[in-house]
Amino acid sequence: MKHDRFNFIENIKRVTGGPGGEVYLIIGDEKTALIDCGMSYCANNLIMNIKKELPAGRTLDYILVSHSHYDHMGGLPYLKQTWPSAIAVGSEYTNYLFEKPSTLKRIREISKEADESFIDSFKDDYGDFKYSPADDYSDEYVKIDRVVKQNDQISLGDETIVIHESPGHTNCSISFYLKKKRVLFPAETMGCLNPNGQMLMAILKSYKDSIESINKAKHIDADYIVSPHFGFVPENLKPKYFDLALETASEYKDFIVARNESGLSVEEILDEFIKEYWHGHIYNQQPFEAFRVNAYYSICTILNEFKDNPL
Ligand SMILES: [Zn+2]
Repeated sequence: MKHDRFNFIENIKRVTGGPGGEVYLIIGDEKTALIDCGMSYCANNLIMNIKKELPAGRTLDYILVSHSHYDHMGGLPYLKQTWPSAIAVGSEYTNYLFEKPSTLKRIREISKEADESFIDSFKDDYGDFKYSPADDYSDEYVKIDRVVKQNDQISLGDETIVIHESPGHTNCSISFYLKKKRVLFPAETMGCLNPNGQMLMAILKSYKDSIESINKAKHIDADYIVSPHFGFVPENLKPKYFDLALETASEYKDFIVARNESGLSVEEILDEFIKEYWHGHIYNQQPFEAFRVNAYYSICTILNEFKDNPL
């Protein structure tokens, strides 16, 4: 049978509002929790999907933010406007970033730019998708109500979510593990699977932290993995998921360092990296411009860690 990456196990509902970022609703017998919030311009659809899935008489209790990027937290202020009592959960560093006016300004700008580029790239897959105005929210709702750290737990009644710090993609990245169902939602630090079974990595802050985070996640030994921007990882790939992330990270590093050693500039390495790893927006799960920016920062991060004279 063909693997259905969105066919979730009981009480894990895909409520994604549109292209750009996946969102899941976890329904415990006492509390509910959302994993990530998707892009700002998808918020109306997201809220509609959550309302459809929430059992009668229940509310949204927790909003878990895996990291501070706009494609994972853009929907947060809209969710808080709709469910003011929902508790936004994130790392200390996400909390720190959300308190900075410059971050809030940047999130608003990038969310506005993103709606057009995403809709343009993915329009054939989403038909007449109707988006929310990307800046129709108040910054006061972009905040973390509960800061979490390694091994903190959030009880939903019959299910418990355990926090794992996963820096590397960003300093603020965290992963979520559902203890009873043994389902892991790894942070983007561990990569994103694509429909070809390839791993895509964006090592934006630290290569060494990324490797450490991947190894740590591997030891959780989850029964199910939900890859960011992808969905449930097929059974045959699950045992290899973290090794694939380690191999891909190491391949990127070797690719970048070798070209640096042969005298190429950052821009030239970027051109070669794009030639090698850009497979189109469907397989890279992002518009070209987002891929290019991520590739640029990954190259700088890796060179800073592996070359004798950092950039
Ligand atoms: Zn990200």
